[in-house]
Amino acid sequence: MNTPASAHPVEVEQTIRLDAVIIGAGFSGMYQLLSLRDQLGMQVKVLEAGAGVGGTWYWNRYPGARCDSESHSYMFYFSKELVNEWAWTERYPQQPEILRYLNHVADRFNLRSDILLNTRMNSAHFDEATNRWHVYTEQGQHFVAPFLITAVGCLSSANLPQLPGLSDFKGQWYHTGQWPHEGVDFAGKRVGVVGTGSTGIQTIPVVAAQAQHLTVFQRTANYSIPARNALLSEEFKRFAKDHSEGIRHIMNTNTNGHSFRMVNRSVTATYPAEREAIMETAWIKGGLEFRAAFNDTLINPEANQLVADFIRKKIREIVLNPEVAELLSDIDHPFAAKRPPVDSQYFETFNRDNVSLVNLRATPIERITARGIRTAQAEYPLDILIFATGFDAMTGSLLKMDIQGRDGHLLKQVWRDGPLNYLGLQVPGFPNMFTITGPGSPSVLSNLPPAIEQHVNWITDCIRMLRDKGLQRIEASEQASDGWCEEVNKAASATLLAQVKHSWYWGANVPGKPQVFMPYAGGFARYTEICNQVVSDNYRGFELSA
Ligand code: NAP
Repeated sequence: MNTPASAHPVEVEQTIRLDAVIIGAGFSGMYQLLSLRDQLGMQVKVLEAGAGVGGTWYWNRYPGARCDSESHSYMFYFSKELVNEWAWTERYPQQPEILRYLNHVADRFNLRSDILLNTRMNSAHFDEATNRWHVYTEQGQHFVAPFLITAVGCLSSANLPQLPGLSDFKGQWYHTGQWPHEGVDFAGKRVGVVGTGSTGIQTIPVVAAQAQHLTVFQRTANYSIPARNALLSEEFKRFAKDHSEGIRHIMNTNTNGHSFRMVNRSVTATYPAEREAIMETAWIKGGLEFRAAFNDTLINPEANQLVADFIRKKIREIVLNPEVAELLSDIDHPFAAKRPPVDSQYFETFNRDNVSLVNLRATPIERITARGIRTAQAEYPLDILIFATGFDAMTGSLLKMDIQGRDGHLLKQVWRDGPLNYLGLQVPGFPNMFTITGPGSPSVLSNLPPAIEQHVNWITDCIRMLRDKGLQRIEASEQASDGWCEEVNKAASATLLAQVKHSWYWGANVPGKPQVFMPYAGGFARYTEICNQVVSDNYRGFELSA
């Protein structure tokens, strides 16, 4: 082992021995803490860099931030009491409400005493001789534990484009993923938003309603489906509670972890008038469920084209200025091959007098100036600049840390050509380290809370098994990991997701990142079955040792 203490730049003030260290106090870190502590009686600490719990929902406080999953599916289902006592107010929960929910979870299950806030993990090194992880924080603590579990989220490392001149800008600028807690006042301000992914599409209508003028800088036009957000009726709230077991069953046994099933119906096998009527109904209902109206949208290019054309037509109907409508509907990829946003009045916002659209495909950004953004054609004066430019997804947060496994294996090195892993749960060379919703798992292609529950339950059962059998160590084999990465590629290749290389699923949004399709696209239910089968086969693909 490379001496962990000397590798750490901060003076170690305190060494704490534990049974497990968890990194991150969002949905996954908190449920993992609860499971290990209350089911297995383990001594566990969660290290959380933020000043509060919530993970993604602690950091992403940008105007308009809300979840695209419907509220009754965006929650834990492991506790019937928790399900029954919590009541969401809207069809899609807003960020403050989700944060309140996660704080409620922390209080209800007495998690806070085992969560160390304002504590950033710096490095984690595995000591082969003792089968222990040595974890160091920026604050000078040293934790020693047999298990290290990363619960850092898939979309938590902000991606700020390296545009020349940003330091010259005299106004204020923000990344949506690191939004100031005190909020930002847009009144009377000229605001620019760079980025039209799910985040940009959520924030643009809200900022437009407050700013003097909003300029949207669009590089790639995007599909979006109306969310049709609304307050939940008492009747629906009652229904969701009364049918919580059924809802949970649907989420755990379908492809995407949501509370609706994909209709077993082909786009191309449906007559045009019927197809139009189905899409119209799905459009009016709104939300991510639009994708589930047919079963071949993401596998058959011809089917996808028909659905994409329907959405383009809708955009042209909504946006009154034909030139702007053309720019917004000139979309270069199949529908849902990049993560499809849902919106509240996104396209309608371009009908406002105080909103303009800049097509960066025709006139790319040359630099940021003291006054604003200069493209190849013009300078746009701005008081506030918002980067809704996404994340170094799935691997970014893990690779920011110094993680060293056995025999000096560095995670950065092992993942230099892509995130080698087995089931998205373990990396060969890193014994007793688990990655909740890591690359190679359905994670971002699924509704996340059920995906997190499945991972945490699997990890907890695995640690219980090790303890019951008197084993010290579990490590994914290289062969199993290679095989799994092939499986991940195969699953993506069966869909149109594999064809769209300029997406963050491929790591294409971060310069220098290996271009590898990261999440498992074979479906959440199938993935769960594979994980269960691996356990039935005596943890096939893992090396277990005493
Ligand atoms: P994103 O999907 O990666 O979108 C980033 C946007 O910024 C894209 O329009 C991109 O253009 C643009 N961009 C990046 N670098 C640029 C540059 N140098 N110049 C000009 N434009 C640039 O990021 P996101 O919108 O934050 O969403 C990330 C993911 O977070 C989503 O896909 C979703 O999974 C999750 N999310 C979820 C929710 C929710 O459920 N509530 C809300 C928001 C986000 P290109 O397309 O041309 O690269």
